[in-house]
Amino acid sequence: MDLYLSWMDERAAKAGRTTAASRGEAVSRLGSLTITRNPPPRDMSMRGTKVTAQGDFMIVAQKGRSFQRANPDARVIVDHGRYLLIDWPENKEWVEEPGCFAVVPYEDGALDMGLRKGTARPRRSEIADAVGAISADELRLQVERLAAIHSRHSAEAGYLEALDICETILEGAGCELERQEFPLGDTRSWNLVARRRGAAANPKLYVIGAHLDSVNHEGGDGARAPGADDNATGSVTVMQAAVALSSFAELKHDVCLVLFGGEEQGLHGSRHFVELLDGADRDRLSGVVNIDMAGSRNMQELTVLLEGAPLSQTVIDDLADMAKTYTELETQVSLSPYASDHVPFIDKGIPAVLTIEGADGAYPHEHTARDISSNLDFELHRQITMMDAAWLIEKAAFGED
Ligand SMILES: [Zn+2]
Repeated sequence: MDLYLSWMDERAAKAGRTTAASRGEAVSRLGSLTITRNPPPRDMSMRGTKVTAQGDFMIVAQKGRSFQRANPDARVIVDHGRYLLIDWPENKEWVEEPGCFAVVPYEDGALDMGLRKGTARPRRSEIADAVGAISADELRLQVERLAAIHSRHSAEAGYLEALDICETILEGAGCELERQEFPLGDTRSWNLVARRRGAAANPKLYVIGAHLDSVNHEGGDGARAPGADDNATGSVTVMQAAVALSSFAELKHDVCLVLFGGEEQGLHGSRHFVELLDGADRDRLSGVVNIDMAGSRNMQELTVLLEGAPLSQTVIDDLADMAKTYTELETQVSLSPYASDHVPFIDKGIPAVLTIEGADGAYPHEHTARDISSNLDFELHRQITMMDAAWLIEKAAFGED
């Protein structure tokens, strides 16, 4: 099989030009790169190259560099960090690393990760004030407090210590709390669920969540697992969203803020949460935002990736608009959901989106004892937290009935 790789120049890419897509052809996009089955048209803004597979073209979605570490000999055609296009020999098995990457055959249009410019909406001063009060110093303090715990491995004592810290903050933000226990192998773990009720006659439900657990894949059982970026940052974003929302005494819609356990063992906490939703809650659940790694600045520009499925498009659009209205973030979009707590929601047809630092695959310290706060950029963390909090406030306090 042949594929054609074409690069648009930077200006055309930023303007969102996709020549092949506008001809109705199924294309895959990675930033300014377009992948097509047919040769690209002669277009001054494109330069292209043809690649021929010796085996099969496959798409890899990976955490960190996990696929490349496990399979160093793979022929990588396109390296986009979290996503790779590879040429893989027929009938050869790849070395698996459970929960760390997925490999699927290339299909036209399977990968869509373009730059997406949000549209500025009328700015609400109440939202601007509430998210403007989020400070990078406070975020750093809270991330450092969680990362100082020896490990937040889902089945270890440090996880309970982290739950206590988070409960105090969420209770202070006026939430009702519940510890949701679930089985985890031959032990158990917990989600921490914080709720606020809305006053609308038929309130919708919005969920914001992040996994609180951490893991160290290098050190084995009992190893230090600070998990600063993965995922103290996301947990702190959820708590700061609760704090920002607490300046709105009355909400229209219900919100549920969740810190998931068991993510690193295979999304156990979020699967359990989704399974417990009754039919009525599932029907009124109108959007889910999951934050997983929000503090490593891997690109020069402050960048967030919004990752969902086609059914998540409204939430993606809302988040991109919040980023444009209340932050300085550049937004990228992918429609290939993978390996975090948004996936169990999407599997049940619920619109969910992951918000994650741009080019997360370039962060080299994930799942190691080196995932500590001195590697992070709390201005990026602040910007992502502002976007997520603005989304929650916009929906819960001002959303349509
Ligand atoms: Zn994570």
